[in-house]
Amino acid sequence: MILGSNNEIEWANYPALLLLGIDAQKDVGNKIHSLIRQAKFAKQISKEGNIAFEMVSPVDKEITLFVQLAEYAAQKRLLLAHNISANIDSQRSRKTFIANASHELRTPLTVVAGYLEFMQHAPDLPETLAMPVNRALEQSENMRILIEDLLTLSRLEDKALSPKSISKIDVQKHLAGILQSLKDSGKLQHHSITTEIKAGIEVDSQADIEENVKTDTESLYLEASEKELDSVCYNFINNAIKYSEPDTEIHIVWEKINDKQLKFSVTDNGIGIAPEHIAHLTERFYRVDSGRSRRVGGTGLGLSIAKHIAERHHGHIEIHSHLGEGSTFSVILPIRYARRNPLLLR
Ligand code: ADP
Repeated sequence: MILGSNNEIEWANYPALLLLGIDAQKDVGNKIHSLIRQAKFAKQISKEGNIAFEMVSPVDKEITLFVQLAEYAAQKRLLLAHNISANIDSQRSRKTFIANASHELRTPLTVVAGYLEFMQHAPDLPETLAMPVNRALEQSENMRILIEDLLTLSRLEDKALSPKSISKIDVQKHLAGILQSLKDSGKLQHHSITTEIKAGIEVDSQADIEENVKTDTESLYLEASEKELDSVCYNFINNAIKYSEPDTEIHIVWEKINDKQLKFSVTDNGIGIAPEHIAHLTERFYRVDSGRSRRVGGTGLGLSIAKHIAERHHGHIEIHSHLGEGSTFSVILPIRYARRNPLLLR
């Protein structure tokens, strides 16, 4: 379609009738938002410049359209609408397939692991079989973690964050809980862990220092799904442990970076990451060194899960690293959980 300066229709082709219900003969001269009566459409079309958005077809609610608006001459815009329903259907069935396959694999895997565990403890297990049974058991545990991660990812993609799962979290208590459970699992015994909670108040003068110390020890809170926050924090800490040598230091910080956001960071002095890999780390199954990742029990899905969780909370992930020196992984989250997507509120 070609639209004039007041969004009046100047020209439309035949598919515009099929996808948007715009009749080139009858509707030329009419304003498009008086014919397509959808709040989202009206809001998008009122914006200036080049824009793109998805919408449900006003002709058939089973059809999803990808709409692009481009200025191509003074006072003229070209509106292009593509039917993307087939892409959306195939994405949906791919996701359903992965979720179902992962679910179906759980039961046989539990049976296999159960028999292996039984064999591992059998007093009459021949010596030659001890090592293969242990290896098989390790691999079945890796597979269990992979299935759990796949199910977590498909759950995150499938369902929006429910407001019921949001609670007010005291970050100091939260951090203490995480450290305790890592200690209980024996994972921390080879690293020295330091923690810090920063309220982010600048110290202007000596007189402020006392005040600042007080503020810095005050509790920080944020609204989030505790279970999902745990998952991000454990992923960062477990990775710091996995990708650094024993006896090195891992530093964990919760910081108030401004009135609206908190930042959780984990810094290690580990192997680091070359710059060309950094942008890809949150892609599924992306590993810098898949051999090493597998050896240390990685699935390549942890950071992809962390990115999903950050975005569901309207936050984001930051990664800084120097090869051979170490890395800092951070998640920046809003202190108050916005019930609606802030992008839609603009
Ligand atoms: P994995 O289960 O393989 O650790 P993740 O998604 O958590 O999967 O991480 C993806 C990849 O990012 C890892 O395989 C590793 O190459 C790299 N990585 C993650 N954390 C670190 C870190 N702290 N130091 C160095 N490399 C890291």
